[in-house]
Amino acid sequence: MIMNRPVKAHYLFYRFYRVTSPWMKALEEENVIMQDPPNNAVPNPIPHHSPVLVGEVLSALVYRPDDKAVYLDCTVGMGGHADAILQATSPTCSVVGIDRDEEAIAFAGLKLNPFQDRIKLVHGSFKRISEIANHLGLSEVNGILVDCGVSSMQLTSSERGFSCALSGPLDMRMDRSLSRTAADIVNTLREEDLANLIYRYGEERASRKVAAAIVRYRENEGPIIRTDCLSEIVSRVVYRRLKGKRIHPATKTFQALRIAVNDELGELEEGLAGAISLLAVGGRLAVISFHSLEDRIVKQCFRAAAKPSVSTGGIGAFAPPRRGRFINLYKKPVIPTDEEIARNGRARSAKLRVLERVE
Ligand code: SAH
Repeated sequence: MIMNRPVKAHYLFYRFYRVTSPWMKALEEENVIMQDPPNNAVPNPIPHHSPVLVGEVLSALVYRPDDKAVYLDCTVGMGGHADAILQATSPTCSVVGIDRDEEAIAFAGLKLNPFQDRIKLVHGSFKRISEIANHLGLSEVNGILVDCGVSSMQLTSSERGFSCALSGPLDMRMDRSLSRTAADIVNTLREEDLANLIYRYGEERASRKVAAAIVRYRENEGPIIRTDCLSEIVSRVVYRRLKGKRIHPATKTFQALRIAVNDELGELEEGLAGAISLLAVGGRLAVISFHSLEDRIVKQCFRAAAKPSVSTGGIGAFAPPRRGRFINLYKKPVIPTDEEIARNGRARSAKLRVLERVE
């Protein structure tokens, strides 16, 4: 059937790619990437994903001619931004695409096949960016992109459990080799810890009510293992509107669980520190965030990098980089136009910040 073709093609391509690619083999041996791709749960048909702020990302990253430029797309997803970068740069420039989701890597491989000589794809976590660059023999790169969050492929696949509007297992792991799913969190955390998690990562004001409803349900009815079951439990105690529009009451609870399952904020903090240390002079790091928790991390990290002399050392991942001088390219984050938001719902809360290494 025609509908099955993209799915089959993308797995066949992936298998071929893994067998024929020496650097991919080297990474596998070092355990930087997982051994076997899962062969289930691929959305069918594969949804369309519109990358956000593409023009803005290109003007930030591809801003001067350089025939040997190397770009790192740390969240290659469905390959939208990587494709745009490859198209906008000279045929001697290359892109390394990283994603912790093997299905994304497989899909990006298919989409970016026309540029196969210029693209390398790595299944791995952004947090390990320095290690990955090291394995690929890259000591410096000219442009780095981080586009946080989930892709349309993840969001619209009921099997992945990311969406509160689709029925599926309560999973939410971007990398399926992670051991803890959203169901594990929901069914094992104490009520108070669950409330704190939902409050902190979901910024859900009704977190205590939600946690109490979850615990009541699991004590009376047994473990919560499906997305629709959780959505229903949350919907009974939360009513939500955003700018006059009704949004799904469980949106914030699902966001909290997704962040916790994938340690998204920890990944971002560590990954940004690694990314900054990889920038060549004149190189730029562009980060697109989708909620205030992410944007706060990006802002603080960039501020620490841009003011190394003021800081007396910084805290943890926000310690200023050891070499180079950096500036924030824009005072305020760049946001999508109304027209882009109307065209692409995912753009609604996007914010782009860019850091440049000037010395
Ligand atoms: N820019 C992409 C879309 C990215 S969607 C495009 O244009 O198609 C975000 C992607 O980031 C998802 O595929 C998700 O799996 C990946 N991701 C999220 N956190 C990650 C991390 N810490 N390391 C690597 N990939 C990550």
